[in-house]
Amino acid sequence: MNLEIPKGLQNFVDGAYALAKTTFRPISRKYDELEHTYPKELDLFAAMLNGANDGSGGAMGGAKGDGKEKAERTGVRNGGNMSNVLNIQAMSYGDVGLLLAIPRQGLGNAAIAAVANEEQAKRFEKTWAAMAITEPGCGSDSAAIRTTAVKDGDDYILNGEKIFITSGERADSVVVWATLDKNIGRAAIKSFVVEKGTPGMELIRTERKLGIRASDTAAITFTDCRVPAKNLLGSPEINIEKGFAGVMETFDNTRPFVAAMALGCAEASLEKTRELLKEKIDLNYNTPINNVKAVEAELYRLEAEYEASRLLTIKAAWMADNRIPNTLEASVCKAKAARVAGQITLKCIELCSSLGYSEGELLEKWGRDSKILDIFEGTQQIQQLIIARRILGKSSKELK
Ligand SMILES: Cc1cc2nc3c(=O)[nH]c(=O)nc-3n(C[C@H](O)[C@H](O)[C@H](O)COP(=O)(O)OP(=O)(O)OC[C@H]3O[C@@H](n4cnc5c(N)ncnc54)[C@H](O)[C@@H]3O)c2cc1C
Repeated sequence: MNLEIPKGLQNFVDGAYALAKTTFRPISRKYDELEHTYPKELDLFAAMLNGANDGSGGAMGGAKGDGKEKAERTGVRNGGNMSNVLNIQAMSYGDVGLLLAIPRQGLGNAAIAAVANEEQAKRFEKTWAAMAITEPGCGSDSAAIRTTAVKDGDDYILNGEKIFITSGERADSVVVWATLDKNIGRAAIKSFVVEKGTPGMELIRTERKLGIRASDTAAITFTDCRVPAKNLLGSPEINIEKGFAGVMETFDNTRPFVAAMALGCAEASLEKTRELLKEKIDLNYNTPINNVKAVEAELYRLEAEYEASRLLTIKAAWMADNRIPNTLEASVCKAKAARVAGQITLKCIELCSSLGYSEGELLEKWGRDSKILDIFEGTQQIQQLIIARRILGKSSKELK
């Protein structure tokens, strides 16, 4: 197994780091303070990204079809998921809130890439899609969704309330999870692309938050909101056997992306800490860990945790590119990287003490930003539950 970054991607990754440093870092503090203001500097960024990926779904886009020709040639593929993970880490090293605010890089775009049929993928190619699963009475247990979708002629009529929608205010459309029949449970949950401005769709508030303040988080209600039936992503059939699998496929792609965001925050904090402490410590990596200063030993341990998280993340992305089922690995990397990023960013604040705590540096911001990565796309506890189910061969009914 060779886990080096493929040469073909290295230049692209280097470019992403350079952009993150020169474009994200200088405006990082500004948009942390100006919560709910759209960072207009991102327009240029979005245009560049869209040009680079030829409109195929953005940084959050999944891997359908990516790298196919290369796979046929070599049998091994480093496609859309791998390049997205590397790109997302680099951008998050710049600023994870700004990354989440880039137009057309929404989690809804990933859902479209993972679940849409060919016609839908083409139709929604240019949309910026947010993703709306969470409701006032339903977070971790997404099977408890109460938003309903009722077929009426060529449309579905949606009713319900969605909260904490990343980019919900700014995106062109929202991928809304709704149930066709509350009595059937998970199998009846489908996702619908609802375009902004559809009658019956109303933005009711935006949230003020601990971190990722450059990214807007919205609550939206749907009241008799009529959506064309062709906007239901994937198959309209309720397949009890397959159950939730269709919509859950999205997470196999997106959890490694969230892990990559965590890696970016952690990497930025480690680098800044080494820089701030360079007069006081000697990181030469030759002295045994029991013979170095306590602060050096601490940094070595954090670096090892960072590296373990990184390897798990690129493994999960590589599996997705190579069509190897990766539900377990996607949860493992998300659980590990998000937890480690929280530990690293907070420990770096501690190691740099007053400098770490002050707004003069971005360390305190990275500490605040990293917390969400262990909450959205499934909390730490939920990832551990998924991992346990996979390892023990238990269903979600058997292990709750
Ligand atoms: C900034 C931000 C952005 C977000 N963006 C989006 C978005 O774009 N789209 C979207 O749909 N949602 C989004 N969310 C919502 C997010 O996904 C949910 O907050 C998350 O799924 C947890 O749900 P909850 O907050 O309702 O907590 P709960 O589900 O109520 O959980 C509370 C606590 O209980 C634990 N817990 C729950 N069930 C179990 C269990 N079975 N075993 C052990 N522990 C358990 C949880 O881990 C957590 O610690 C966002 C949230 C925030 C804060």
